[in-house]
Amino acid sequence: MGEAALKSSAVGLKPGVVTGDDYVTLVESCKAGGYALPAVNVTGTNTINGVLEAAAKNKSDIIIQLSNGGAQFYAGQGFPDATLAKVLGAVSAARHIHMMAEHYGICVILHTDHANKKLIPWVEGMLDHGEVFFKETGKPLFSSHMLDLSEEPIEWNLNECARILKRMAPMGMSLEIELGVTGGEEDGIGGEFDESADNSKLYTQPEDVLQAYQQLSSIGSFSVAASFGNVHGVYKPGNVKLRPEILKNSQTLVSEKEGTGANPLNLVFHGGSGSDKGQITEAVSYGVFKMNIDTDTQFVFSEAVGKFVEANPKAFKYQIDPDDGTPYKKFYDPRKWLRAAEEALVERLTEACADLNSTGKSLAQS
Ligand SMILES: [Zn+2]
Repeated sequence: MGEAALKSSAVGLKPGVVTGDDYVTLVESCKAGGYALPAVNVTGTNTINGVLEAAAKNKSDIIIQLSNGGAQFYAGQGFPDATLAKVLGAVSAARHIHMMAEHYGICVILHTDHANKKLIPWVEGMLDHGEVFFKETGKPLFSSHMLDLSEEPIEWNLNECARILKRMAPMGMSLEIELGVTGGEEDGIGGEFDESADNSKLYTQPEDVLQAYQQLSSIGSFSVAASFGNVHGVYKPGNVKLRPEILKNSQTLVSEKEGTGANPLNLVFHGGSGSDKGQITEAVSYGVFKMNIDTDTQFVFSEAVGKFVEANPKAFKYQIDPDDGTPYKKFYDPRKWLRAAEEALVERLTEACADLNSTGKSLAQS
């Protein structure tokens, strides 16, 4: 098929937060088109708007996600009830994203990151708000949530995922689950990564993925964060071996046993920061539609602030220069250095879209 034919046959979606059938369409488009979307952790309007700007600039759809800590920070680190802040911050950020995403003209999958056993009430709290939002608007507040119960026995993990998915599916929401353990720590979840330990647990067993498919696929849409040697954070290369073929083995097993087409699973790549580009491409070819990026975007955001301060040191010490009376307001105005950080974020995500082959592929049609 020629480029023009491909374009005309492509499904157009309304810009904004996508849920339900539109979510499924977007994920299927990624898998069929051999691309994945960057899933960026955000902590406030600066990072959210930077992500939206990057998506619009690159004509790429995008995934915006909040960790429990990111949600708490969005509500305010000083808010006295931390548990409540995690729910309210997520809801508040979601409402901001619903409002702005459609005006940036791209499709956004709105998601929350790792919730372990202790954080199940966080997810349930967001669903309480989500059900109210659904009654008001006919749309869920989030496209999807994640439950990471990979530290629990697999039966318990999958039963709990099934219970929550039964509540989400009627609203058109999807659930991301985790099988196998992604190394490293993400916002207090997961242990300090031991680079010298036996890391066999870092590889998901295809049989476990099949079990998940058999238990969840009849309930609703779900995706799997499978572990194939990926690690949260950036570590010295060489200590963990990425084995994307683990993903292929899971797809093959499920499609053979369940008689589906190729790549029946929606796969998610955690710990993408610092990954080799060839292995990213290989993972995407096995049905990865989402690659998380947090460490790298955090770094460039802060790096840009550091450079700005370095270039204008006096503005961060004096309102007016003590020697020559120069006013420094136009440098210490937080909009100046925060904008530098946003621009760096946009630049890093431009690279991420290119790596994931999502540039120019937005399904949004106004
Ligand atoms: Zn993760």
